[in-house]
Amino acid sequence: MTTWMKNVRQVEPYVPGEQPRIDNIIKLNTNENPYPPSPKVVNLSMDLNKLRVYPDSSVGPLVSAIAEYHGISEDNVFVGVGSDDVIAMSFMTFFNSDKPIIFPDITYSFYDVWANLFRIPFETKPLNDKFEIVPEDYNCENGGIIFPNPNAPTCVYLPLESVRKILDNNRDVVVIVDEAYVDYAGESALSLINEYDNLLVVRTFSKSRSMAGLRIGYAMGNSALISALNNVKFSFNSYTMNYTQILLGVESIRDDEYFKSMIKKVVDTREWFCKELTRLGFSYPESSTNFVFATHKSVPAKELFEAAKKENIYVRYFDKPRIDNYLRITIGTDEEMKKVVEFFEKYC
Ligand SMILES: *Cc1c(COP(=O)(O)O)cnc(C)c1O
Repeated sequence: MTTWMKNVRQVEPYVPGEQPRIDNIIKLNTNENPYPPSPKVVNLSMDLNKLRVYPDSSVGPLVSAIAEYHGISEDNVFVGVGSDDVIAMSFMTFFNSDKPIIFPDITYSFYDVWANLFRIPFETKPLNDKFEIVPEDYNCENGGIIFPNPNAPTCVYLPLESVRKILDNNRDVVVIVDEAYVDYAGESALSLINEYDNLLVVRTFSKSRSMAGLRIGYAMGNSALISALNNVKFSFNSYTMNYTQILLGVESIRDDEYFKSMIKKVVDTREWFCKELTRLGFSYPESSTNFVFATHKSVPAKELFEAAKKENIYVRYFDKPRIDNYLRITIGTDEEMKKVVEFFEKYC
């Protein structure tokens, strides 16, 4: 080994879902919205001459649109390059004690990767056998807490009174609630940020807002948390958000009618699809998201996953303890989900 190699940061990277660049596939593997972004986003014309200058480092117009939308103040909002960027920045900012941070054993598989990248010790707490987070497990000494609500890939929502229980028992550390899917069901923890100055709520434009390709995420919390995040951001990269992201993000936030109608379409399709899954011999926890997490009574998930791919249907399979007989299936259009049902009908 040459000397410089000893000084290389060794990390095992997160493996994102496949993004196959083939036409005519049914892509249900990374929880995108099957419908396009708001027409206001699609049709906005921009003056690209403005690319000559640096963008607004404070992300002003987008921060203020988000603040107005949620009825909070601008100093309660931090915007980043997708929620991945916001959460990574939060790990760096808030998880600096020697104690382990905690998150569920089955959860978003980026959390342990960031913990390792930033040398943050961590412990996991097992979900119960219904894939629910057990709030009492989080009554222990720790250096911080993060969980998605609804959780991924399990699609299970933790009621707000349980989130409150976790917060009540953890007033001395930052608690991050990753609400990537909250628009599809359930009450947001946003209503608690005035009560708990250590609560950070994270959202994304990637799923419910049909804008995964643009990369916008944001965090909401007490102004002291937001200001700490900004200090870290401005010590790392002042211009995370570019000119187009800022303008298009604002358009998306302003078109609430379109946003709500797309959510409703996805939820309606999900309810239909779940009934079909039951008929076909699958079981699954109740979904509060735009995906379902399903297991079949006789056909192994891995086999189904591979057979579906041969039919150009891409879903997600995790070869991990406790969940290796489940498929995570994103809700697509009605037409796409009918094809999935036809495939299962033939195969199972
Ligand atoms: C998709 C997802 C993210 C990341 O979303 P981006 O905003 O696209 O970076 C974060 N957390 C969870 C739980 C997700 O499912």
